[in-house]
Amino acid sequence: MDCLFCKIINGDIPSAKVYEDELVYAFRDIEPQAPVHVLIIPKEHIASANELNDENCAVVGHIYAVAAKIAKEEGIADGGYRIVNNCGTDGGQTVGHLHFHMLGGRSLQWPPG
Ligand code: 5GP
Ligand code: ZN
Repeated sequence: MDCLFCKIINGDIPSAKVYEDELVYAFRDIEPQAPVHVLIIPKEHIASANELNDENCAVVGHIYAVAAKIAKEEGIADGGYRIVNNCGTDGGQTVGHLHFHMLGGRSLQWPPG
């Protein structure tokens, strides 16, 4: 499948790995928007949040548990952070493989633009 993040999972495209297990892969965003900017993705190709259903959605809970683990390791758990999923054109999604941005290490503005 011609998917950028599937290629990153497979190692066909290099990435700065932060965490990996049988279900998910986490790596540093190539254009970080905060001191800590990690992308957490399911190894299963799911195109976007629109494709989640009762059969494949358990991985999302696991991604949040992995995020909590990464936050402690990156030293941002106490300061806080934001987990973002962009879905579709209006949501600003540019890569068609479900991913969660984890942003931290500075005070983040709200609401987003
Ligand atoms: P989206 O805009 O779809 O929510 O997020 C896609 C993210 O993937 C962007 O923050 C972008 O910087 C990141 N990205 C795009 N291509 C690559 C790449 O080849 N390697 C890494 N590490 N991140 C990428
Ligand atoms: Zn994919």
